[in-house]
Amino acid sequence: MKLIFEKGRHGRRGYVQAKSDVPEAKPLDKRYRRHKDPCLAFVSELDVVRHYSELSRLNYSVDTNFYPLGSCTMKYNPKFTERIASLDGFAQVHPLLPQISGGGMLAQGSLEVLYDTEKLLAEITGMSAFTMQPLAGAHGELTGVMLVAAYHKASGSRRKYVIVPDSSHGTNPASAAIAGYDVIVIRTAADGYMDLEEYKRRMDGNVAAVMLTCPDTLGLFNPRIKEIADIAHKAGALMYYDGANLNAMLGKCRPGDIGFDVVHINLHKTFATPHGGGGPGAGPVGVSGKLADFLPIPRVIRRTDGTFALDYHRHKSIGYIAPFYGNFGVVLKAYAYMLLLGREGLIGAAETAVLNANYCLARLKGHYELPYGRTCMHECVFSASRQAKNGVHAIDIAKYLIDRGYHPPTIYFPLIVKEALMIEPTETESKETLDGFLDTMVEIARLAEKDPASVTQAPLHMPVKRLDETKAAREPNLRWQP
Ligand SMILES: *Cc1c(COP(=O)(O)O)cnc(C)c1O
Repeated sequence: MKLIFEKGRHGRRGYVQAKSDVPEAKPLDKRYRRHKDPCLAFVSELDVVRHYSELSRLNYSVDTNFYPLGSCTMKYNPKFTERIASLDGFAQVHPLLPQISGGGMLAQGSLEVLYDTEKLLAEITGMSAFTMQPLAGAHGELTGVMLVAAYHKASGSRRKYVIVPDSSHGTNPASAAIAGYDVIVIRTAADGYMDLEEYKRRMDGNVAAVMLTCPDTLGLFNPRIKEIADIAHKAGALMYYDGANLNAMLGKCRPGDIGFDVVHINLHKTFATPHGGGGPGAGPVGVSGKLADFLPIPRVIRRTDGTFALDYHRHKSIGYIAPFYGNFGVVLKAYAYMLLLGREGLIGAAETAVLNANYCLARLKGHYELPYGRTCMHECVFSASRQAKNGVHAIDIAKYLIDRGYHPPTIYFPLIVKEALMIEPTETESKETLDGFLDTMVEIARLAEKDPASVTQAPLHMPVKRLDETKAAREPNLRWQP
């Protein structure tokens, strides 16, 4: 595909400015004047429309195709929630609108949405209070670990370490480190779960928190999670729940009931905002009662007369973590989504997500290595190690899938699985869609045996073919030169 600069003809214009009939006041100093024409594309309006329409057709999205990107929960997000978020009363609201006194009560509806969403998420997770402010999952983690630190500081306890398993998402140890902790990494035992013996050995009064993803990044639910929590609590450490995988848990199991003290949720995975692409997200953080006083300001409160307000006067709070009140539109969509699905709908989403993942697991397990072969939750992790023996690596499988119209699964994560292929189908896909993808995966496994070169050359039908990735990193060529 050509760049817009390579299209059109010198001198062609889409728009010509009318000659100004206002006399020039004083000519601009020569120093500030341009001596060369700017390097613009000479295209007509139609050229521009066609160029960008063509570009937009190259976009890949859940709205166009299947997107089994493990750990990212790329589900379809109902357009209903977009409609709610674009209602003028919400979309046009200014963050400095008077909440309650002075100019009226113009922000009451928005405050009520924040208040009610907090209550719904608290109910779903079994926590006592939530802040909706964090702007992403990783930001939620940082906020959560800061809450842990504030809690220990207030109780006069000095602790140095945060424990994470080696299967954890990279943001977990990063958040703990940014919040000032040293990280202890516990390895995964042969059964696919955190090594319990090593965990017990490393746990003592210096550990501030244990950060766990549940179900974990292998898509497995650790049956000894309660025991792990009890061991942490006995040593005075807190339990942190990375809730990015909450999609498997909705209405089935509550982190608060298992003993988690701090929870973050990715609204842009589980609750109806498209994930990925760098768009706005939200990583609300929920806490048990003993941590509620430390939550960031402002808090949304309901006054005795039933009106809502922002409360800034909380002396134990960790303070501000985001301007105004986070990504309100994302919270609003999550609220609309929860009300749309209702209790039964959310439970159904979790059940179907788990069923779909197990269907993928069952259909592929004869064709790909399954390192931890038991019933999975919302995602399953295979290894391309069998194919790699013939020179077909996870990256080649991913590239071939692109040629066949599928977004690849997550590859090379979790790090503990060699040649990892992490498939998360989500609840919103039909059996026909899954079958199309799974048939292609089976076909790739067969090609890897019979004709490996046909896989390793892919993609052949995309605008950009196989790149020399080393060269792309060492000598990036990002700028068009006339
Ligand atoms: C996505 C994810 C995160 C981080 O969330 P972001 O919104 O991308 O910052 C953390 N943990 C797990 C397990 C995840 O899948």
